[in-house]
Amino acid sequence: MSQLVIESTVAGLRRTVDEWRASNQTVALVPTMGNLHRGHLSLARLAFDLADRVVLSIFVNPTQFGAGEDYTAYPRTLDKDTSAARVAGTIDALFVPEVDEIYPFGVEQAVQVKMPSIGRELCGAARPGHFDGVATVVARFLNIVVPDTVVFGLKDYQQLIIIKRMVEDLQIGVRIAAGPIEREPDGLAMSSRNRYLTDRERAIAPELHRTLRLTTDALRDGERDFALLSDSARTRLDEAGFKVDYVEIREARSLGKPNGRDAPEDLIVLGAAWLGKARLIDNLNVSPDSIPV
Ligand code: AMP
Repeated sequence: MSQLVIESTVAGLRRTVDEWRASNQTVALVPTMGNLHRGHLSLARLAFDLADRVVLSIFVNPTQFGAGEDYTAYPRTLDKDTSAARVAGTIDALFVPEVDEIYPFGVEQAVQVKMPSIGRELCGAARPGHFDGVATVVARFLNIVVPDTVVFGLKDYQQLIIIKRMVEDLQIGVRIAAGPIEREPDGLAMSSRNRYLTDRERAIAPELHRTLRLTTDALRDGERDFALLSDSARTRLDEAGFKVDYVEIREARSLGKPNGRDAPEDLIVLGAAWLGKARLIDNLNVSPDSIPV
């Protein structure tokens, strides 16, 4: 197992990466907000398989949280994360900058990336500015680390499509890799926000995955009345106790609206719903093997 380097400054991280580059080693970056779980560690494993060196960043990015969202409450567990990263054995460097390091002119005066309409749909409709904040911080991390590969989870599917779009449009020279959603045994997608659930809510939470599964089953069976499918998914979730933001069927590659003649493998079902204090998101490709990158 290699020694885990912990860097909190841009200069320090750049020095570490420069040393690797001097011996022609490739680098993969896994951006996270910490509170590491099996989902994050599976991405580190994928990064380990794709590059000689792995940087995992932990940064709770203020610009992607809206007013009244959980920026302050978001779990910060650096000691546990450091142990988990050490035990995993797939991570060479943890990059754990403070806010000033990433936004040297301050958050208010930061140069920002503004996403086109894709950033204002689905989760972007309920969270105005969220994906601009995500794109802004990922652009910064890509400039700091200059990795060969950056790894994201399919859990945040819209985020992945948005980063793909930003990388193409800004012509950033990085390969994007995506890892599958890691789930609890009952199907609930792993997430740092699951800890906001009470025991009662936690028992209900897998219903989101179950409902998306029923929807993908129907699509696989040939149903193409998308409005009907999302209405019945919504009703099911309402009845289980969720407050639904959306359940939508989209074209998997672009997240555009499907045309009704789509092959099953071109379709994805995405959902977001509140359960108490937790806003849960999940998605399922109709064809389980299709990964968009
Ligand atoms: P976060 O720390 O929640 O911002 O997530 C950091 C990265 O981990 C993102 O690319 C997420 O999509 C990914 N991720 C989060 N949860 C999971 C999961 N359950 N399975 C796979 N990847 C995940």
